Amino acid sequence: MINLSDAKRWLKGLKPMQTALNLNDWVIWTEFKTIEDGKGQCSPRPGYQRAMLTFNLAEIDDEKDFLRCLRHELLHLLNGESQLYRQACMNHVCDSHAQNALEDVYDNVEEHLVRRLECLLDSFGYTPEKLIRKGEA
Ligand SMILES: [Zn+2]
Repeated sequence: MINLSDAKRWLKGLKPMQTALNLNDWVIWTEFKTIEDGKGQCSPRPGYQRAMLTFNLAEIDDEKDFLRCLRHELLHLLNGESQLYRQACMNHVCDSHAQNALEDVYDNVEEHLVRRLECLLDSFGYTPEKLIRKGEA
């Protein structure tokens, strides 16, 4: 668990990391709150190029963990426009069981994509800390 003042300090890495990932066309808000599953969450609204990143302080261990979480949530935005397709499909699916099943598949596929992107960045040495330095340069 980390405390709020540390998290706010480490959040200064958001803008440079956003720049390094070429995501400056997104307006990003952040919040700190308890969520059911995981360290963080990304909620994009691609029609408006806006997103909310949520951080669950109780589940984050330290600065390194926080910055990895920040990078993870930003990487979701690389696929953010796919939310438009998701929403369009859901508007035509009336059965709630089918909706839930499709949501599960979508979430699973997107998490796989983000994990692959994390591995790719790590293999090139683009750690969260390096992305911040790159975005500040
Ligand atoms: Zn994720």
